[in-house]
Amino acid sequence: MPQPTPCAEPIAKEQASPAGNYLTAVGDPRLRGDGTQQLTNQLTIIHMNIVPKLFLSAVILIASTNSHAQTVQQQIDQKAAKILTKVIEWRRHIHEHPELGNREFKTAEYIAAHLKSLGLEVKTGVAKTGVVALLKGGKPGPVIALRADIDGLPVHERVALPFASKDSADYLGQRLPVMHACGHDSHIAILMGTAEVLTSMKKDIAGTVKFIFQPAEEGPPGDEEGGAPLMVKEGVMDNPKVDAIFGLHISSSTESGTIKYKAGPFMASSDWFTIKIKGKQAHGSAPWGSIDPIVVGAQIINGLQTIVSRQENIVKAPVVITVGKFHSGVRSNIIPEEAILDGTIRTLDAEMQKEVHSKIRRMAENIAAASGATVEVTIDTKTLVTYNDSSLVTMMAPSLHKATPIVTTTQWTTGAEDFSYFGEKAPAFFFNLGGMPKGKDPKDAPGHHTPEFFIDDSQLDVGVKVFCHLVFDYPSKAQAKTSENKKGF
Ligand SMILES: [Zn+2]
Ligand SMILES: [Zn+2]
Repeated sequence: MPQPTPCAEPIAKEQASPAGNYLTAVGDPRLRGDGTQQLTNQLTIIHMNIVPKLFLSAVILIASTNSHAQTVQQQIDQKAAKILTKVIEWRRHIHEHPELGNREFKTAEYIAAHLKSLGLEVKTGVAKTGVVALLKGGKPGPVIALRADIDGLPVHERVALPFASKDSADYLGQRLPVMHACGHDSHIAILMGTAEVLTSMKKDIAGTVKFIFQPAEEGPPGDEEGGAPLMVKEGVMDNPKVDAIFGLHISSSTESGTIKYKAGPFMASSDWFTIKIKGKQAHGSAPWGSIDPIVVGAQIINGLQTIVSRQENIVKAPVVITVGKFHSGVRSNIIPEEAILDGTIRTLDAEMQKEVHSKIRRMAENIAAASGATVEVTIDTKTLVTYNDSSLVTMMAPSLHKATPIVTTTQWTTGAEDFSYFGEKAPAFFFNLGGMPKGKDPKDAPGHHTPEFFIDDSQLDVGVKVFCHLVFDYPSKAQAKTSENKKGF
């Protein structure tokens, strides 16, 4: 465990100073002359008597000051270690019973029952299936929100685990297998554990902790509303108003016990787009009588790639445009009337996100017009750029180090998170927690959203610890920052 030495030094100096005053008295002109040696001897005796006592009281003072600091650190360490068995048990239960976005009924019940058993103020049915709980600390202070997402995915689990999912659910008219293939089961268990640890320490907490269990992070089905945007719309960041929000995501390719973070833009915005191309139907043998939407579609796909390679400043931030679906036609010898392209856009800069939208429209409309076709472009923003408030990151990074010795900074990613919507309302900090078995090569680790996705849950207590430290450290640090800013005026 790291020794909290920094506060020991000033106290030791302060306590040592009276002895220092005795020693400087040797140089006092009144003490010079024949009696100087005698006086010096006397003072040396006084000094020798006083110093050990002062030293002892200094040590006692340091020890008592440190014991308080250590108490919180030690309490968090001990309580997190103790709750790990339960966290693993909860995570495995939830893993075995995954539910899709906006349908997390049993998951929400399971979470709410636990939070109610802790005596927290619990609200259910937030943004359809979300659960929000409030923990009021024993001292006044800010409102700190901690968020976990709770939904699974339509993926067929192929990992031979005793708690592997065998469940299925209706998804857009199909019955599909369901799996926690993004690790949200571990987020739920970590936050349930954090709620229990913090409740047991509530008299020492300055402020209020808001636990947000959010549904449908992967996106609500069809055109339903859901996820973080709906939670924000329903006022989850108000009453009481959140001063700072923290969240984490487990990573299947980062060693367990590791925390990775980045200040500023961290995860990409995600937009889904559809380009509907309208042409003219004709016999496949006489293309001159058609306006071929398949050929126009192919030209548009190529054109879209030049937005990335020739029109956007990719030195400022990366851009991705992917067409994931191209649907047209029914038969080899019929040129169809219509073609539909579906794709996704990723950006790491809000301004570039807007630019790319208008460039996609311009590219699609003009390429289509060049062939006499027309297009209808729709762009649906799923997430914004997940932006980590730089001053919050600088202020709170030391708290990450209290939870684990392995903390590193990382690069931005073109993956997306709807946590970004909370960041629109309060300073936010989102980071990654490792869940890959130690010693495994990240290249061999099955990716998120795949049937082989796997999380080593043996160190989920690191997640509990980091959330607890953030809650304990934020109030005093935010207070210090406010007074520092006031001094500037
Ligand atoms: Zn995911
Ligand atoms: Zn996820």
